[in-house]
Amino acid sequence: MSAEQILQVALDAPLRRLFDYRTPEPAGRCAPQPGKRVRVPFGRRQLVGVVVALTDHTDIPPDKLRAALEVLDEAPVFDARLQHLLAFAAQYYHHPIGEVVAAALPKLARDGATAVEVIACWVSTAAGRDALATGAVSRAPKQCEVLAFIEQQAVERTQLGTPARGSTADELGNAFPTWREAVRALVARGWLTATEYERHGPSTTTPSALLRGEPLHATDEQLAAITAIEAALDRYAPFLLHGITGSGKTEVYLRVIETVLRQGRNALVLVPEIGLTPQLVARFTARFHVPLAVLHSGLTDTERLAAWRSSLAGNARIVIGTRSAVFAPVNNLGIVIVDEEHDASFKQQDTAFRYSARDLAMVRAQQSGIPIVLGSATPSIETLHNAALARYTTLSLPRRTGQSMPPRAATIDLRQHAVRQGLSTPAVEAMRRHLGADGQVLVFINRRGYAPSLVCTACGWMAPCGECDARLTVHLGAAQLRCHHCGAQAPLPEHCPQCGYAVRPVGQGTERVEETLTEWFPDVPIARLDRDIARRRGDAEDVMTRVASGDARILVGTQMVTKGHDFPNVTLVVVLNADQGLFSTDFRAPERLAQTIIQVAGRAGRGDKPGEVLIQSEYPEHPLLQHLLHEGYDGFAREALKEREASAWPPYSRLAAIRASALTLAAAVEFLRTARGAAVVPRGLKVLGPVPAAMAKRASRYHAQLLVECADRATLHRFIDTWLPRIESLTAPRDLRWSLDIDPLELS
Ligand SMILES: [Zn+2]
Ligand SMILES: [Zn+2]
Repeated sequence: MSAEQILQVALDAPLRRLFDYRTPEPAGRCAPQPGKRVRVPFGRRQLVGVVVALTDHTDIPPDKLRAALEVLDEAPVFDARLQHLLAFAAQYYHHPIGEVVAAALPKLARDGATAVEVIACWVSTAAGRDALATGAVSRAPKQCEVLAFIEQQAVERTQLGTPARGSTADELGNAFPTWREAVRALVARGWLTATEYERHGPSTTTPSALLRGEPLHATDEQLAAITAIEAALDRYAPFLLHGITGSGKTEVYLRVIETVLRQGRNALVLVPEIGLTPQLVARFTARFHVPLAVLHSGLTDTERLAAWRSSLAGNARIVIGTRSAVFAPVNNLGIVIVDEEHDASFKQQDTAFRYSARDLAMVRAQQSGIPIVLGSATPSIETLHNAALARYTTLSLPRRTGQSMPPRAATIDLRQHAVRQGLSTPAVEAMRRHLGADGQVLVFINRRGYAPSLVCTACGWMAPCGECDARLTVHLGAAQLRCHHCGAQAPLPEHCPQCGYAVRPVGQGTERVEETLTEWFPDVPIARLDRDIARRRGDAEDVMTRVASGDARILVGTQMVTKGHDFPNVTLVVVLNADQGLFSTDFRAPERLAQTIIQVAGRAGRGDKPGEVLIQSEYPEHPLLQHLLHEGYDGFAREALKEREASAWPPYSRLAAIRASALTLAAAVEFLRTARGAAVVPRGLKVLGPVPAAMAKRASRYHAQLLVECADRATLHRFIDTWLPRIESLTAPRDLRWSLDIDPLELS
């Protein structure tokens, strides 16, 4: 390696460039290489970045070129394929590579923590060896066995000349069905001590068998799907696994993953936030006897680092995680699975780097030459379109496994029936009937809290959020008003601040529906599940368990109820307000509504009892509801595709949005107007707007957007490439923020 080598480093900074450094002096233990982290001086600070390339020239004058301080990794933390994926993501989303790379690393790794796996283990102490020799431990047979095992392993390691270290949880777990209690007791007696060691490379412990649990009986459709995917394991092949709720998609994933593991390769499974439940993870651990890494937003930084290290070391054979797990360092990848591919949580919408994990997973599979399976009961319209064009192979699971029948669905016309607190008479009668026949009932309402507004009965005042164009939601249990858009909170007033008259909550949320149902059905145990309940770790689990066990007979909840436990005794699902989403300005709102209704309805009658679904609406004749009811999701999707084609929305066009926010609406709109003026618009491309956002004021800032629409993806991206530098060079008020969103999901 020449001493003149220049490192091109991606740093976590909002700048569209790489930073050049000389190799560290002295050279240090680890040689610089693309994909490795380096610590570099940056101004007066030190930053951790990732080497993107090595080169022999730089435009920086020799006296200005600084040396990197240290190469942190012995081996790259991003292999060549992941480096390509990150480069692709930076280009496709027109986002600074440094921020893309940062998004792909856990926080502690961004701060420079070692990438090597640190494994907890136990070694015997001198006192412990004495106790073994003198037989002092033999009165506790289990402790004796465990201590003897650990000592035996230490002796064997010395004889084999392998590095001295303690016994790991994996090793103990393979030797004993239970061991933790014995280890705890031995540590308490001073005969064992807990320590750790750095494990380089995958675990050498071979599990006794790959499978812990037997595969379930597969239906003909499941077998056909498994065979089709397994026939394509040696190449890039995208599949849509379109299976209705209860049709056994997970079993297909498990069987295919088994084959991949047997080939010595690893699996990456992406699931939506709401779908990554302990039950799903339990299904994987119950089936496979291999280490699993789980990555999701609920982890502490330390837990996330440990899962990432385990994946990087090749120790975890299955990586299962939410959105950002698409960047997990899984080497020797054999398959990618995206479960509930339609779910909006796969799109990062909050930070500056707005990527779609589903779309990047597709690129990752393509670059790795492996199959990818997109699973859903309600595929996105884009995915159905790709399947219709034969870009994806469709595998259908049209039937539920076991005896269960599809539920019967009907609408209840809210204009024709008495309604009390959001519940119509026919809905209450149906609930009574199902509860009387020992069934369980699920009541779905897509709104948490007690009531969506607090109103003065005298002067018409409605409790507004001071920071947003929104009303505050009443949370009666917490005696608070809360804004669901900015998080603002206020104590619940008893009197109108304007005229002093009494105020009252108007409309329904989950809390109020629960209260009303308690009045209707005083003897029936009721459970509620929404984000307020789920905030405390474990509480959502408790609710699910109560419903699954039959302790609770009625469950009131938001879409959180659609995932996790099976509720085979739920025979009736009531959808309280289907009408949100029928008349939205966002062209994707009907799709989301249809998906929610189908997903919620899928909870009915999953055992051997037939289910019933009742949808309350003031517009039961609306074509969307009619198609959904009579032809199911496929019928709805056919109509939705026709509408999208007629109005040139995706998938018949490509979109990008430039969003701006400022302390006044005028400033946000003015900036976008100037940006639009700076555009050289090619033929076939449209720049629409600027328009204020549907909720213009949010968290004290005013939001507006420009929309770019083009039928041709390449044209759109070339346009953005030339336009972005012009926008970046515009002078803007200090408080103005703007961002680019490629393939935006929400247009409000
Ligand atoms: Zn008033
Ligand atoms: Zn607010």
